[in-house]
Amino acid sequence: MRTRIVRAVTRYIERPSPNFDARTRSIDLVVLHYTGMQDAATALRRLTDPAPIAGQYPGPWQSDDASADAPLPKVSAHYVVDEDGAIYSLVPEEHRAWHAGASSWEGDGDVNARSIGIEIVNGGHDFDLPDFTDAQIDAVIALLRDIFERWPALNSKRVVAHSDVAPERKQDPGEKFPWRILAEAGVSIWPAPLAAQLSTDDPTSEVQQHLAAIGYDVKQTGMMDVATKSALVAFQRRFRPSNMDGAIDDETRQFLIALARLA
Ligand SMILES: [Zn+2]
Repeated sequence: MRTRIVRAVTRYIERPSPNFDARTRSIDLVVLHYTGMQDAATALRRLTDPAPIAGQYPGPWQSDDASADAPLPKVSAHYVVDEDGAIYSLVPEEHRAWHAGASSWEGDGDVNARSIGIEIVNGGHDFDLPDFTDAQIDAVIALLRDIFERWPALNSKRVVAHSDVAPERKQDPGEKFPWRILAEAGVSIWPAPLAAQLSTDDPTSEVQQHLAAIGYDVKQTGMMDVATKSALVAFQRRFRPSNMDGAIDDETRQFLIALARLA
């Protein structure tokens, strides 16, 4: 394994967004996103726009017959990390930024209230899933280390994907995001190799228990319902991206056991 030398954050570029309100609880989570837009300038404009309308943000995310003056949701994030590694600060960490939308983690439906949101500039699935750059990943690692220093409740176990907290709506930061590199740098987690004895009794209930233990919004129905399938795909997208079919297989079960033990 190559040792990755990551420099500490030396500069935050101030790009204030008016899109925030007061936190209703303390910070204990970080949510990673991709911007999913054509470039950093457009994403920064959108994330700081106090009154966004559809006509100003044309793209594959809206139908051609959308009215140009239709209002769009006001959104923001605490940070945007550009492809060259520049880090923009949009909302002070003390405030509640609007990045996660309808979401749930560990049974809590207001993820924005408890999390710091980081948007990573990348076109995402609408733009053929470009690679993240090395400079950008180094900057994300340095930013997370800086954030961990400021908030004692945050550590490698407290960093999640937008797709983890909203698996039925979101795919970001996407299956190309290098979670394993983040784990090697100590700012995320990765399943340890494991060879647990797998029972054949009721794998669906077992998977639901482990997904819920990790934090996913899954009920113990014993059936492969939509929420369970979506969470399983989100889990695979992050930890086993070579196959994200949402099916229960032995490798996925082993990884779920390993991650549930960390939770
Ligand atoms: Zn997102």
